[in-house]
Amino acid sequence: MLLFTPGPTPVLESIRNAMSEPTLHHRTPEFEAIFARVRENLKKLLNLPEVLMLASSGSGAMEACVRTFTTNKVLVVNSGKFGQRFAKIAQAYDIPCTQIEHSWDTPVSVEEVLEAFRADSALDCLCMQVCESAGGLRHPIEQIAKELKALKPDVMIVADAITAMGVEPIDTTHIDALIGGSQKAFMLPPGLSIIALSQKAINMANERDVGFYFNLKTELKNQVKNTTAWTAPTTIIQGLDKYFELVEELGGIDRIYAQTRARALASNEAMRALGLKLYPKTPALAMSTIYDEANASNLRKILKNDFALNAAGGQDHLKTSIIRFNHMGLIPVYESAWVLNALELALQKAGLRTFDGTANAVFLHKYYELLQ
Ligand SMILES: *Cc1c(COP(=O)(O)O)cnc(C)c1O
Repeated sequence: MLLFTPGPTPVLESIRNAMSEPTLHHRTPEFEAIFARVRENLKKLLNLPEVLMLASSGSGAMEACVRTFTTNKVLVVNSGKFGQRFAKIAQAYDIPCTQIEHSWDTPVSVEEVLEAFRADSALDCLCMQVCESAGGLRHPIEQIAKELKALKPDVMIVADAITAMGVEPIDTTHIDALIGGSQKAFMLPPGLSIIALSQKAINMANERDVGFYFNLKTELKNQVKNTTAWTAPTTIIQGLDKYFELVEELGGIDRIYAQTRARALASNEAMRALGLKLYPKTPALAMSTIYDEANASNLRKILKNDFALNAAGGQDHLKTSIIRFNHMGLIPVYESAWVLNALELALQKAGLRTFDGTANAVFLHKYYELLQ
């Protein structure tokens, strides 16, 4: 079965092999050397002065950030399941919270965020996604961060980049906390989350000293010394070390970004050429999401049963009306081409369109045009 869901992503054989080495004790110079190398690689990738690794899925890092970086009240951008999660975290800790809610195909605008902060002086933290994976949309977070800091320099900006890290370059100049997870573009098993921090965020984490297991002050104190407060997920960190090695072997991260972008844009164009409707108004590069309320569920079944392809459906009200195809990670282009061909064949099987090879013709033409 070809796993093509936007998280979890498949774990490559060379990364699996790296993780099958005998278990290292986490308080040893051997592990600390790996930890140090991974820390440096993450800081370089994310362009922020500090980074923390936590033993949790991405939501653990989201929880730590909401609690640490909201002093009075948080504004949450909710254009889907993951934005909604920030609000649920705030509610669970009785942290005052307002939301800007949109339908799952619609990104927030810069003006809406600025207006919310102008209207409510209690707001001191913004939590939002870079890519909202529920519908596969990209928010204009870089512009929002820039203009919000110009309006209110003390506001903390928390960005969930779980489906953007390793997918595309993110301008972190005005971002205070950038969240990642192991099971998306890093192609690792779930269980490791990442938080990159600005200097302002480092200071605030140390001042506020919030929580116990997810206490960022405790983690900072340890991780600057290349160790962790609690037992580290050593195996996944060994895998992440291997990921960075692979990226170098494949020509560096900028090349991976260019290939990911080309796969995503060429896939979108091929899907449109098949007559399919893309769901989000501003598609992110992490995934392609098609909307077909009547047929999505059946198409996904055909992909799975006849073509051994596992693509993702939707969540909640979109459960049976969208299909999401992954572009995150070190995916060979021939796999994406194969997926689009399978999709075109599935449309024929479902009686919706006659197969004529359009998907691959458009995809390959566009892909190589974009990479030139
Ligand atoms: C996958 C994902 C998460 C993390 O969810 P976990 O299940 O806790 O790992 C958070 N935000 C976004 C945008 C995601 O795609």
